[in-house]
Amino acid sequence: MELPNYAYFRGQIVPYAEAKVGVLTHALNYGTAAFAGMRGYWNPDQEQLYLFRPLDHFRRFLNSAKLLMMAFDHTPQSLTRVTIDLLRSENYRRDVYIRPLAYKADEIIGVKLHGLRDELSIVSVPFDRYVSNDTNAHVTFSAWRRIDDNMIPARGKISGAYANSAFVKSDALLSGFDEALVLTQEGHVSEGSAMNVFIIRDGVLVTPPITENILEGIIRHTSMELAKRELGIPVVERPIDRTEIYLCDELFMTGTAAQITAVTRVDHRPIADGQMGPVTARLRQLFDDIVRGRNTEYQDWVTPVYP
Ligand code: PMP
Repeated sequence: MELPNYAYFRGQIVPYAEAKVGVLTHALNYGTAAFAGMRGYWNPDQEQLYLFRPLDHFRRFLNSAKLLMMAFDHTPQSLTRVTIDLLRSENYRRDVYIRPLAYKADEIIGVKLHGLRDELSIVSVPFDRYVSNDTNAHVTFSAWRRIDDNMIPARGKISGAYANSAFVKSDALLSGFDEALVLTQEGHVSEGSAMNVFIIRDGVLVTPPITENILEGIIRHTSMELAKRELGIPVVERPIDRTEIYLCDELFMTGTAAQITAVTRVDHRPIADGQMGPVTARLRQLFDDIVRGRNTEYQDWVTPVYP
């Protein structure tokens, strides 16, 4: 991965090499940080870089920080302005990924949340595809379970919780799969390592509700809106059992990194005829047009970076 040239660090944009923390930093030792991950999409015809739903990302980011008893003077609007300044400094003319991080910055020993200094950084890197087989992914059910909201709040993007995702992802990749589906303690389908999950059964789009220890994904919300508004498909949030996945008509997973990834095999079983389904294909096309600012109906979801 190419490293950034700049970082927003301690309240200003500095060369990336200066954005460093010590090894005793609380967040590094105890996972007491929260992060966001958003994308910028380059539109070569318009020579414009579009941020996708930055206010929603920063709202969730500040809420994740709040769960960790952090408070910042920033608003979603002010963080979007900082991000735009940062991206202009980098002068990107390609797709990028933006990583805001809020972390417990004290260099001390002691596990707790309160009474610690909080800091906030933002960096961006060039970024293309995250799942290489995004039209025909093969996923497996992980032997690991999803963390419960009463263990580490699953609806926050809390750094420490991503050790769970890392166990899930490495076991899947090292066993030859592209991604994994993770079950809750009760055995219902929760989500992937860093993506939400959807099935189509009998013409209905079904996804686990936000009480199944999922992250409240922005591409999840986007996909639900597009299915309803553009495709006229009913959308239902309800618990999903493992074997419904094996028998569904279409399966896809969503996330900022994964975008809309078509899953065509689960544990060596083909989903329907083993090809990407028509709803998934339509949603992917709509999504790509919207994120690159080509769909005027959804201009409020994209923020241009350049004047
Ligand atoms: N679940 C988890 C655990 C994630 O890390 C992500 C990626 N942020 C998602 C779901 C998808 O969320 P979003 O669509 O907001 O990127």
